[in-house]
Amino acid sequence: MKFISLSLPNKIGISVFFLICCGLLPLYFYTASTLSSDLQEVLSNQQVTYVNFTANDLEQKIRLRTVALQDIANHLPADQINNRSAIRNYLEERLAIYRLFSLGVVVIDKHGIGVADHPHFKNRDTADFSELEYFKQVMTSGELAIGKPRVGRFSQKLVVGIAVPVKDKQGSIVAVLAGFIALTDTSVFDQTKAKLGRTGEYILVSVSDRAIITGTDDAHNLHTISEFGTDQNIERFMSGTEGTAITENFHKGKALTSAKRLLDGRWILLGVLPTDEAFAPITTLDKQIKLASSLILFFIVGMMWFLMHYQLRPLTVATKLIEKMSSKDNSLHEIPVHSQDEVGQLLTSFNRLQLDLKASHEALEHQANHDFLTNLENRRHFMELAELELSRSKRYGSSLSLFMLDIDHFKKVNDIYGHKAGDTVLKKLSGLFRDSLREVDIAGRMGGEEFAILLPETDGQHAVDVAERLRKSIEEAKVMLEGGPPLRFTVSIGVVSHTGNKTNIDILLNYADQALYKAKESGRNKVVLVDWIE
Ligand code: GH3
Ligand code: MG
Ligand code: MG
Repeated sequence: MKFISLSLPNKIGISVFFLICCGLLPLYFYTASTLSSDLQEVLSNQQVTYVNFTANDLEQKIRLRTVALQDIANHLPADQINNRSAIRNYLEERLAIYRLFSLGVVVIDKHGIGVADHPHFKNRDTADFSELEYFKQVMTSGELAIGKPRVGRFSQKLVVGIAVPVKDKQGSIVAVLAGFIALTDTSVFDQTKAKLGRTGEYILVSVSDRAIITGTDDAHNLHTISEFGTDQNIERFMSGTEGTAITENFHKGKALTSAKRLLDGRWILLGVLPTDEAFAPITTLDKQIKLASSLILFFIVGMMWFLMHYQLRPLTVATKLIEKMSSKDNSLHEIPVHSQDEVGQLLTSFNRLQLDLKASHEALEHQANHDFLTNLENRRHFMELAELELSRSKRYGSSLSLFMLDIDHFKKVNDIYGHKAGDTVLKKLSGLFRDSLREVDIAGRMGGEEFAILLPETDGQHAVDVAERLRKSIEEAKVMLEGGPPLRFTVSIGVVSHTGNKTNIDILLNYADQALYKAKESGRNKVVLVDWIE
């Protein structure tokens, strides 16, 4: 119900608001989802780039060390493998060892017993390595092996071992050369220990035992990734798939996680970035799209509302004018027209209808107040006007006179010349009234061929003079009839003059009637003034 009472511009404004909402909302959802998936892809690719870079950097550093280690193994005097001091001397001459393997190297004979180490750790050069997986792996495969991360027996530090075979000239494995890198060694793991973004981190995992080698947070070293929860995508990464996925049940809750294999799949580098940070640009973009859409919406609706008010202003003004016309003063006024558009045409048509209405309203009013044959005031209207004049005369103490006039022997006119001729006489008589009387005098047809004439501000003597003049002009008048001689007729007039306050039109008419009767009695074609003093 409230909506119905809204103005047209407001209704249009609200409709436009809803229409634009209907258009903008799907556009917003489509754009937001398309942009968000595009941006998600861009952000994922960006993260893959970071993780690949870090993984490649680490791989290069490890490869450099394996190549160096193999070099040292290749040049190791294999025929002197049982000569501990010769092997130690050889190792001591390899200065690069310090730089590449922070926890040194050990030569292990083919039974798993240490031969020599450098730099020297107590008991390391004679220790038993036979149960260590990297030793066993090199002995069985004859190729490079990378051990599990663990706490070193001699260094007591977190360490990962890399082992290569030492072969004699015939190609038989005579020993294993193992090099040890501390997990805290920043010359190897510097990139891996960096942060990923602001809140993300790298996690380097040894695939065979699912143990964390190292990463951004050293506190995770040697933990297994299963401790961070199980997630299908992590399992896919662990089984060798590379790429990026959103992990839900893994470290730090919902995160954008990228995986890159290195060292032929022995290790996997995971980059884990919480989605809050990873997709912050999407959230920001979403907010900006919402803000821009809202601003556009309010701008369009505002402009629409303003234009509607501006364009429909003539209509609003006209509506108020028409309302006022119909409710208050009840009179018709022309409505100003400022343009020739539909609104202008509407108002022009309204003005035209108003004119027609006005015309038919004057005509109706005239018909209601006048006698159709003589066009004089009818009895009812004469009485109204006469009462008004009488009260004015009483108020100002001015004089007022009244005639009652009746055509003499009118029946005969009808009888001899016919009713139509009688009508012509009546019309002629009303014409004579107009010629002889003043503008302010009021003449009314009271019925048949009886008339009343009211003369404002006219005393008895003047009234008799006027009546006499009128009677004469009627007596002298000729009514021209078709195919006959001119018709003449006379009237008798009773005159009454008002001088006091205690009277009304009925009383005056009664007295005038008495005077008229006397005029008839005394021979007709006469004027008789009634003696009337209040
Ligand atoms: P008196 O001199 O005594 O007045 O005689 P009179 O014949 O005029 O008598 P009265 O006034 O009684 O007659 C009125 C006649 O006027 C009767 C009626 O036929 C005639 N009459 C009334 N109205 C009309 C009218 O509209 N047209 C015509 N043609 N005759 C009318
Ligand atoms: Mg009469
Ligand atoms: Mg008469």
